[in-house]
Amino acid sequence: MQSLNKYFNVFPRVVRANSKETINIEPLYDNVKPSGCAKYKVTHYPVDYPATGKGDELEDSNIIEPIDGCLQIERYFEGEQEHILLIEEMVDSEVARQVEFRVYSLEEDLFSRKPYKGDVHMHTYHSDGRETPAYLTAACRKIGFDFISITDHEKYYPSIEAQEAFEDVDVDIGIYRGEEVHPPDNIVHMVNFGGDFSVNEIFQQDELTYKKEVSAIEKGFSHIEDETLRRQLASCTWCYEKIREGGGLGIFCHPFWRIKSGYHVSTKMTELLYEYQPFDALEVIGGFHRHQLESNVLQVASYNDQRAKGKNFPIVGVSDSHGCESGSLFGWYYTIVFAKNLTLNDLVDSIKDNYSVAMEAVEGERTWAHGDFRLVKYALFLEREVFPYHDDLCKVEGELMHEYIKGDNGAKGELARRKGNVSRLYNMLWA
Ligand SMILES: [Zn+2]
Ligand SMILES: [Zn+2]
Repeated sequence: MQSLNKYFNVFPRVVRANSKETINIEPLYDNVKPSGCAKYKVTHYPVDYPATGKGDELEDSNIIEPIDGCLQIERYFEGEQEHILLIEEMVDSEVARQVEFRVYSLEEDLFSRKPYKGDVHMHTYHSDGRETPAYLTAACRKIGFDFISITDHEKYYPSIEAQEAFEDVDVDIGIYRGEEVHPPDNIVHMVNFGGDFSVNEIFQQDELTYKKEVSAIEKGFSHIEDETLRRQLASCTWCYEKIREGGGLGIFCHPFWRIKSGYHVSTKMTELLYEYQPFDALEVIGGFHRHQLESNVLQVASYNDQRAKGKNFPIVGVSDSHGCESGSLFGWYYTIVFAKNLTLNDLVDSIKDNYSVAMEAVEGERTWAHGDFRLVKYALFLEREVFPYHDDLCKVEGELMHEYIKGDNGAKGELARRKGNVSRLYNMLWA
């Protein structure tokens, strides 16, 4: 399936469905420059053929000649789907070379959004992780993330530390606040992504008021006989409401995480959370090591069961990484959010509106995407055709961010010079 070809500059790659567009193909290096007398046969295969099932018979080809060494292909892109453009170099009516490119046509709602990759559940040395918030943030840019949130256990300040580490330099990664919330009488783990105050600090500073307010919420669940379940559900409801008050996204973490021999949160508790849905988004893909991957399988299966019952939970995929240089978890799981902009509000609203997919890319294994079918299809195209270019730019920026935190002031100027590179790439690739 890999059709990435870095010898050419091809744009646009993402176009509006049911529109006519000109795709430009510029050879970048001598090895792919058109030879003098060659003509080019262009064949267009929309991946999703009409219901006639005639497949290749519907191929549509024409012969073009290069203009100033570049090819311009005008095509009509029908519906929301991937398109293959096969280009054959014809010399004396023989095929001398061939190359193919992919283009994706999108309905307006998705076309008007850009894909942003990020991880909103990670730990630093301020809790049980390894590195500083600044180091982790730079490492995230290095692997192609557009946004992150550091979510240490019971601690909010590490996420502020990450923001402050880069406040004097122009970086294109969105660094947002966060914490993993652990209430005193509740084993359910929750992530506060982006909230503008700490929820942990509320009960750390005044547990009595927290308990009083949770007890009041508990009265509304009096039909639930089991006292522990009732209490936990009330506590979760309280926490998620506080997260929303701060403008954050409340995430239900790793429902099928196994500690020792059993699930950390009982399936009964998980089902109650599904039923009342106090959370905003579900970690459908959580940060599980190779020996724990069954937990993600179960999370996906239970998410799909809920969808079949009509509950379409907003989702995220997170690494829950406890060290970005440990060779495990970091970068394996992440979320692609389709949003208008990289602002916190846009990201939160887009996840809530189900414009996100949870990605699994365990090292050495095949990449999986979870979520709405149309988003999964599009995400796979992006992983193959667009993100490799995006990630190349991010890698250099991440390396410079590491140099910057080590005290290299030249890195600051270089980062400023590179500011906007990813947006410029996207402006070129989107029609
Ligand atoms: Zn946790
Ligand atoms: Zn965690």
